[in-house]
Amino acid sequence: MLRKHDILLISDEGVCGFGRLGSKMGAQHFGIEPDLITVAKGLTSAYVLLSGVIVSEKVWEVIDKGSREHGPMGHGWTYSGHPICAVAAIANLDILERENLTQHAADVGAYDVGAYLQQQMHAAFDAHPLVGEVRGTGMLAALEFMADKEGCKPFDATLKVGPKVSAAALERGVIARAMPHGDILGFAPPLVTTRAEVDEIVGVVKQAVDAVANQVIGSAVAG
Ligand SMILES: *Cc1c(COP(=O)(O)O)cnc(C)c1O
Repeated sequence: MLRKHDILLISDEGVCGFGRLGSKMGAQHFGIEPDLITVAKGLTSAYVLLSGVIVSEKVWEVIDKGSREHGPMGHGWTYSGHPICAVAAIANLDILERENLTQHAADVGAYDVGAYLQQQMHAAFDAHPLVGEVRGTGMLAALEFMADKEGCKPFDATLKVGPKVSAAALERGVIARAMPHGDILGFAPPLVTTRAEVDEIVGVVKQAVDAVANQVIGSAVAG
């Protein structure tokens, strides 16, 4: 459809690239063929700063042709593409491969820790009164909090349910990011996370969600 209308597809793989979903790239995982892929975090596992955009032949041809006709396209800055960061990225990608971390993060086989994370998240939160949806793939997961699960009704934004759960989890030692566009908590644990650490993450977050549920649902019931 996009191809028919000559519309470019960008796969933003800031978080889902480099093994997190149990495939080399997210686009590959879902069988899509983007024209551009943006990459960042997982490229260096964030030890140093590096991001980039992978361009398809189709896009490259336009840049190449344009640069020949009009001079090079300006895309370099003083601290862009630093060799130290590039070396760190290569070392990081070597480790991913050597330690088979993409498979570790997958949710296909019985021993994949990504599968275990998804199972444990569903087991702990599918039936929780504060949780509208549990979703994720591999080592990427999210909880969305809803006032009314069946009706898909969100909480009043002023209640700040997402940020409250995030703060309650942080207090107990787990960092989970409250997304800015809803009461959604995102989880992207290190690819080396073990099953015991998944148990710890899910256990702590369950305590945090319970604590906020008591507060929010308790006060809603009290009027
Ligand atoms: C982190 C992230 C971003 C933001 O990247 P910046 O380099 O901070 O702008 C964008 N998209 C996704 C999917 C991300 O995970």
